[in-house]
Amino acid sequence: MKLDFKKLSITLLLFCSVNIIYAQVNSAVEVPKPALDAIKGAPSQPKAYSEIITSKAVTDKGMFNVHKVGEKYFYEIPDSLLKRHILVVNRVSRTQAGGQGGALSNPGDPIDEKVIMFEKGPNNKIFIRTVSHSQAVKDSTSSMFTAVSKSNIFPISAAFDIKAFSKDSTGSIIDFTDFINGDNEILYLSSGDKSSAKLGALQADKSYVTGVTSFPINIEVTAVKTFAKTPSPGGGGSGGGSFTVELNSSMVLLPKVPMQGRYSDNRTGYFTIGYTDYDLNPQGVEQVSLIKRFRLEPKKEDIERYKRGELVEPAKPIIFYIDPATPEKWIPYLIQGVNDWQGVFEKAGFKNAIFGKRAPTKEENPEWSLLDARHSAIVYKASTTANASGPSIADPRSGEIIESHVNWFHNVMSLVRNWYMIQAGPLDARARKMLFDDELMGELIRFVSSHEVGHTLGLRHNFGSSSTVPVDSLRSKAWVEANGHTPSIMDYARFNYVAQPEDNITTAGIFPRIGIYDEWAINWGYRRFYQFDGPEQEKAFINSWIIESTKDPRLQFGEGEFYRNDPRNTAEQIGDDPIKGSIYGIMNLKRVVSNLIEWTTVPNENYQSLNTMYNEVVTQFKRYNGHVAARIAGVLMNPKSVEQPGAVFEAETRTRQKEAIMHLNEYVFKTPVWILNPEIFEKTGAIGLKIIESIQEPVLENILKRGKLDRLVQAEIYAGNRDYYPLIEFLDDIKRGIWGELNRREPIDIYRRQLQQIHMSKLNNILNPGQAKAPTSIMDVLDAAFSQAHPDYVDVTSTVRAHVKSLKSDISKAIKGTNDKKTKIHLIEMERRLQNILK
Ligand SMILES: [Zn+2]
Repeated sequence: MKLDFKKLSITLLLFCSVNIIYAQVNSAVEVPKPALDAIKGAPSQPKAYSEIITSKAVTDKGMFNVHKVGEKYFYEIPDSLLKRHILVVNRVSRTQAGGQGGALSNPGDPIDEKVIMFEKGPNNKIFIRTVSHSQAVKDSTSSMFTAVSKSNIFPISAAFDIKAFSKDSTGSIIDFTDFINGDNEILYLSSGDKSSAKLGALQADKSYVTGVTSFPINIEVTAVKTFAKTPSPGGGGSGGGSFTVELNSSMVLLPKVPMQGRYSDNRTGYFTIGYTDYDLNPQGVEQVSLIKRFRLEPKKEDIERYKRGELVEPAKPIIFYIDPATPEKWIPYLIQGVNDWQGVFEKAGFKNAIFGKRAPTKEENPEWSLLDARHSAIVYKASTTANASGPSIADPRSGEIIESHVNWFHNVMSLVRNWYMIQAGPLDARARKMLFDDELMGELIRFVSSHEVGHTLGLRHNFGSSSTVPVDSLRSKAWVEANGHTPSIMDYARFNYVAQPEDNITTAGIFPRIGIYDEWAINWGYRRFYQFDGPEQEKAFINSWIIESTKDPRLQFGEGEFYRNDPRNTAEQIGDDPIKGSIYGIMNLKRVVSNLIEWTTVPNENYQSLNTMYNEVVTQFKRYNGHVAARIAGVLMNPKSVEQPGAVFEAETRTRQKEAIMHLNEYVFKTPVWILNPEIFEKTGAIGLKIIESIQEPVLENILKRGKLDRLVQAEIYAGNRDYYPLIEFLDDIKRGIWGELNRREPIDIYRRQLQQIHMSKLNNILNPGQAKAPTSIMDVLDAAFSQAHPDYVDVTSTVRAHVKSLKSDISKAIKGTNDKKTKIHLIEMERRLQNILK
């Protein structure tokens, strides 16, 4: 299955990184002369400087000086920056209230990036070329260079008359007003962005520029743009009208000399940039993927000391400024979350490599701005979004992270509060109220800050990390307080829900923190090897380094975002045994339920908090069930290079899958009455039957997914796996849990009648697939891609049909054997539906 990752923008909820994987861009390719000749317009006649930049001009000095004269914006392009690569990043800064912008609904997220360059053309013109091809040819003397140049030119996306030359003749002045007021493929929204957001033409009368600011390495343009809404096909009600957004376009000057890159490796978890290289492989093309990282280098005078293995300070440390809009009391914790990475960088040979800092006040430094691309920052957003994200922009030639803004949404605090009360309430008395003390909330903020900063350093989620820790260790006070409950802060491991109150574990063993995986990952990504001239030269060395290091399973990377069949790499799960872990988790949830009314009581308030937190309990329980269900049809993935022995892909064993079904039968399909609390229901209006449905239905949906059934069948021939779980046995094991009353001749209660109906509807979906549900999230799209419906060549339909027939015959027998009226009515109906299903 091939996914187009280039087009995939991933915004995972609950602490995620936003990362757009871009088409790669590189320099070198010259433009064939005929193409230039074709674009000769009328020669322009530059005027005297003072005629264009009059005494009324307001000048903003920076990368390009920007002169505002009346309503006009003039850019002064220095000759020294001609042909330099400039990264353009377009973002939504504010979106129309009420949403409907699709991909344009998340303020702060980049919507696209491209590389451009300014160039002098004939007849006193300045061109903007889009350097958008995805080929890298580093050696301009090679024959491959000529071949690639022949078949590719950089399109000229805009042409400007030179209005005047700089006072000292070292630059050209162009009128940029129409360009920033209008609609084009470089700034703002590309035609692709607009069509995916169902936007039509720009409405110029409802659009205006709000600001143009120039900084030493970037220029920021902010504009309010109004577009016509494209009427929806079929004339549905929501079409027509217009859509207004505020957009921000940054032009960021890329370094003259690209940083030395490092090839990505699927045994470590870094964000990447990628491009096609024509030089590497003499007999074809090579897809190159480089990790994203900051340019951390020793000072020139320290290089020899660094090579000897001494700890040195980097030439340019990584600094995260805290947005001045951040509430004062949280600033120290956000800073601490950044500084927690300092010790990690020492593993890579750098001391004092990373700092959190308060942004300077206007008095301290009037020039300082969050918009200055030299500044990375944690930006505080007064938003109801319960999330945080850590996007960064990187040099597409090398992976160098140029700047990074962690978006910190105010409401992320309610998210961590909810988790902490539900997962750690039984362990930490401070978690047993709705409004946490500042100290506890501060500690929670610190861990979220560390996680987000980890993303901005280049690290991806390592969902597999926490599954390298034995469940028993999670309950061992000494062990878990010393080592933490997960080796990586980049996991979604949240809190140690396995620990029991009698274990007396303190927050050192409950909170996530930066761990040994993170130390290894930063060392791997950031250590410089001066003996090698480039990523290709260091390849063999890096490979053996990884092989050696990842012999410790705690240093392994567990891919859980793009490869989703490995049950070890599930989000929100901790410990090496999800079954045992869930049982401990449930023991804690029972304690939460019985105390929840007290913990959620807020004087003078109603029961809204109780309702919210009870739903959180249900959600947490559903997570545990999902962890166990992930074993069904699981295929473990252990990425290896050819030097490493053993299988890369390995199907889950029959025993482990059977254990999972036995657990689900016992803890999910046998009605989990512990979660039904009449006292809570009478205050919130929740309905027990609905709650149980909301718990059981997703589990059945999950384990009876067509993709899983296909994989169960395929496991029969999986290399080396003789201990596979036959589909018929799997279906019978579920039946034993869900329809146990039939053989035992017992009455069937209302919860179980509901469960049996759900089960039957899932079987029906397999035999009579209807319209597939439209995907509602990026995860659904991935799911659909990975478990694409295959033509039914082998076994699934026939086995399920045989199973349904045997269920029907069990039911027919049970109808005769039961005297319970409700049971009898239910079974007669079930028998009738089964007949229909078999038709
Ligand atoms: Zn994240």
